[in-house]
Amino acid sequence: MRKPFIGGNWKMNTDSKSAVELAKGVAEKCASYLSKVDVAVCPPFVYLPAAKAALGNSAVGLGAQDVYFEAKGAFTGEVSCGMLKDVGCKYVIIGHSERRHVIKETDALINKKLTAAIDAGLLPIFCVGELLEERNAGKTEAVVTEQIQKGMAGISAEKAKTVVIAYEPVWAIGTGVNASPEQAQDVHFMIRQLIAKMYNKDLADNMVIQYGGSAKPDNAAVLMAKPDIDGLLVGGASLKADDFAAMIKAAAEAK
Ligand code: PEP
Repeated sequence: MRKPFIGGNWKMNTDSKSAVELAKGVAEKCASYLSKVDVAVCPPFVYLPAAKAALGNSAVGLGAQDVYFEAKGAFTGEVSCGMLKDVGCKYVIIGHSERRHVIKETDALINKKLTAAIDAGLLPIFCVGELLEERNAGKTEAVVTEQIQKGMAGISAEKAKTVVIAYEPVWAIGTGVNASPEQAQDVHFMIRQLIAKMYNKDLADNMVIQYGGSAKPDNAAVLMAKPDIDGLLVGGASLKADDFAAMIKAAAEAK
């Protein structure tokens, strides 16, 4: 039985005051759903400690939006897994499309980050997804398969158990155009079959696969109703506690 998981990716938004208000608002408004739904918020690095304090005793998990694979040393500007754990992170987003396409992260780098996060005991939210031209050229399955195979290369079945995959079609992120529930379900089903082939059916059946890409309160229920959609990774709509809580409620009611 997979527990629904809703994550909020705040991206490069909020400031020290609004980050605290948002974390507090999420903790308050989703409290009654946390027995049925896992919830995480992922603020910018600099607001992680303040957000952690604002969450207080809430079971809402704290996540980072990225991490570096080395443990420490001369890596100016980078943040390690140990540092994230030190400030209370449970989750870390890895391979987000903005890091792949804006910052130009490669599958090889993402694989190192994923491996380091798992080894450090962080729960990774591993993002994959195709560009619009790749979808239009009928390459969605090939692109997502390659991202997963390269991203998870060398990661054992035991270690892969902790990975959450987020399927986020790039054309749907921040555009207001979400994938239809059917389009998303097709790719989620394909990903689950791929994980069964790469590892085993038990691991595939238990793996939480989130959808991300213009998920909002008004489409959360129909997305979550699909059998292989276990959760949502939410960008824009996670910046309003009421909207985010409405999506958490939809997830609790859908499963
Ligand atoms: C994201 O950043 O992971 C995302 C899905 O963004 P949005 O919900 O704004 O499309």
